[in-house]
Amino acid sequence: MTLKRILISLGGLILILALAFILYMYPFYHFFFTVENTVIDKDLTVLSGAGNSGLLVTDSAVVVIDTKMSSMAEKLYMLAREKAGNKKIIVINTHFHGDHVNGNKLYKGCPIYIGGYDNAFLAKQIDAKNRPTMLVKDSLTLLLGNETLTMYNLGQGHTFDDMVVYLQNRKVLFTGDLVFNHINPALFKDGGTNIEKWEAILKMIPNRWEIKTVVPGHGLPGGPNMITEQEKYFEDMQTAASQPDKASEVKARYKEWRDMPTMASTSRTIDFIREK
Ligand SMILES: [Zn+2]
Repeated sequence: MTLKRILISLGGLILILALAFILYMYPFYHFFFTVENTVIDKDLTVLSGAGNSGLLVTDSAVVVIDTKMSSMAEKLYMLAREKAGNKKIIVINTHFHGDHVNGNKLYKGCPIYIGGYDNAFLAKQIDAKNRPTMLVKDSLTLLLGNETLTMYNLGQGHTFDDMVVYLQNRKVLFTGDLVFNHINPALFKDGGTNIEKWEAILKMIPNRWEIKTVVPGHGLPGGPNMITEQEKYFEDMQTAASQPDKASEVKARYKEWRDMPTMASTSRTIDFIREK
C-alpha cells in the first residue's frame, strides 16, 4: 500500500469517527441549547436551555431564577428587561454551576443571591464578573406584593450549598439541580455532590412545603411526584452499586432517562456511588 493510499484511508476513518461523534452528541446539544418556554401562568414562565430559569413578574419586581450561559443568557436577559419596565430585577442562583450563573454579568447593579458557600470557594468557581452579591446562609423571604418568595439554603446535596426557591401563593418550588426530570444527574465530587445528603433533602421536601408545581434544574416542570422519582432513582442506583448482579436490571428501568454525554448516565451514577 502506498503512503498516499494509507493517508486517504486514515482521512476517511477520521471523517467517519467525527461524523459518529457529532451524531452521538447532537440530541443532547439540541436539548441542552434550545430555549423553550413553559408558561406556568401569565406572570411566571420557565425557560429551558442550559439550566431551567424562572421569570416571575410581581407587583414590585421581576425575579430571575438562574441566569443561564452564552446566547441563552442574553435571550433571558432581554425578556427580563422587557417585562421589568421600570421595576427592579432581583436575581437568584440556585447553585454555582456555570449553566445557572454565567448570565449574572448582564444584571449590572441588581442584587444577586446564592446559597451560603464559603467565599473562597465561590471566588474559585465563579469569575468576578458573574459573582453573586449576597449569600443566603439559611433562608430569606421577599414580600413582592402579589407573591411571597422564600429562598432556602438546604446545604449539601448536588453542591455544597443548594438553594431552593418557594413561591408561596403559587405553591411552586424551584429545586435547581436537586431534581433532574428524567435526566441522569450531573455529579461532581469537587463541587460537593453528596448522594446521601441529597437523598435526605429529597425525603424532607414533600413534608416541608405544599407543592403544586416543581421546576427542576433540567427537564420539564411537573408535579411533586418528580421529587420522589429522583429519590427512588438514587435508591435504585445504590442497589445497583452494591449488588452488581442487579445493575443491568436497574439500568434498564431508567433507559428512558436522558444521558449527558461524558457527564451523566446510569453507569456514571453507579460508579460515583462505588468510588465514594
Ligand atoms: Zn448543577
